[in-house]
Amino acid sequence: MTYFRKNIEDLDGYVPGFQPSGDDVVKLNTNENPYPPSPQAVGAIRNFDSNALRRYPQPLGDSFCKSAADVVDVEPGNILCTNGGDDLLTICFRCFCDENNAAAYAGPTYSLYTVLAKLQNCATIEIPYPDDYSLPIDELAESGATMTIVCNPNAPSGSFVQPAEIKKLADRLKSKSVLLIDEAYADFAETNCVQLIKECDNVIILRSMSKGYSLAGLRFGYAIASEKLIAGMRKVKDSYNVDAISIATATAAIWDQGYFRENVKKIKAERTRMTATLREMQLEVMDSQSNFVLAKCTTVDASKVYDELAAQNIYVRYFNLPGLSDKLRITIGTKEQNNKLIEALKKIVSCDK
Ligand SMILES: *Cc1c(COP(=O)(O)O)cnc(C)c1O
Repeated sequence: MTYFRKNIEDLDGYVPGFQPSGDDVVKLNTNENPYPPSPQAVGAIRNFDSNALRRYPQPLGDSFCKSAADVVDVEPGNILCTNGGDDLLTICFRCFCDENNAAAYAGPTYSLYTVLAKLQNCATIEIPYPDDYSLPIDELAESGATMTIVCNPNAPSGSFVQPAEIKKLADRLKSKSVLLIDEAYADFAETNCVQLIKECDNVIILRSMSKGYSLAGLRFGYAIASEKLIAGMRKVKDSYNVDAISIATATAAIWDQGYFRENVKKIKAERTRMTATLREMQLEVMDSQSNFVLAKCTTVDASKVYDELAAQNIYVRYFNLPGLSDKLRITIGTKEQNNKLIEALKKIVSCDK
């Protein structure tokens, strides 16, 4: 006997990355930012007037919409605030997918998409990326889905598709499917697809404050899309999906572009160094445009490397999935954290030779 709907009963829920406790942990497993949030954001929390908690928050997070619109150069009506980027994914699945309306995406990609599809009882069409991780435009354009997702930069590959390619897909999907571009990692990429929302009425862009702005614990993300799509999605979101403290904090954080750019610059420099160093150690590493790298272990089992690193309190991400079971996804940390990982990894990789 179960009280649950069949699809819930059958569902393996999403498994978040391990959150170890303790101070001497090198945590490079969930793509968090190694630097603290902006002092402006911290100030917004400290100075928050607790009397405001008595009232409900702004239903649409207007202050954030204004600041974000200014930063990304769109109108406030093109922004929807969400409780983390994941909340936007839930909203999109509820808006566009059901038993008769499938979701399509190229994979391997963010595993939450499949879980949300199952909750919504909608079919998924996963089209394998070719080895070079270029976008399978023809297959995605012909899939018949009503929501198509492109994660760009993609996770866990770190690979990046040029906006011109994504525009080709958006054009071919017109009047058939929305195109959700998951830009959770766009802060670390050379460019992004924001311009497309002005040219294509079927494009929705997902952004997150968790990675580039060091606010994973706050839970704040947002959508950028045409006013028409935003208006439709507002009908589906929870009435007060972002709380008053989050609105104030995220607004201060996105407004502090100077601090944000400094941190992104440091992470990109370390990404370049890590990529080169891991390659010298006989790991195969793809070029990444995110705050992590995907490294293929050629001399030792990736799962064994994971275990040996974890035994030393160094955490990376291992996915026991097709195409990923010989690889480790390593978040770019501070220089000190990255050096600890490299030293430990050197010993593990060399003792098996
Ligand atoms: C982190 C992430 C998100 C959103 O994360 P939130 O913490 O909910 O903002 C969305 N998509 C991908 C691929 C991610 O890695």
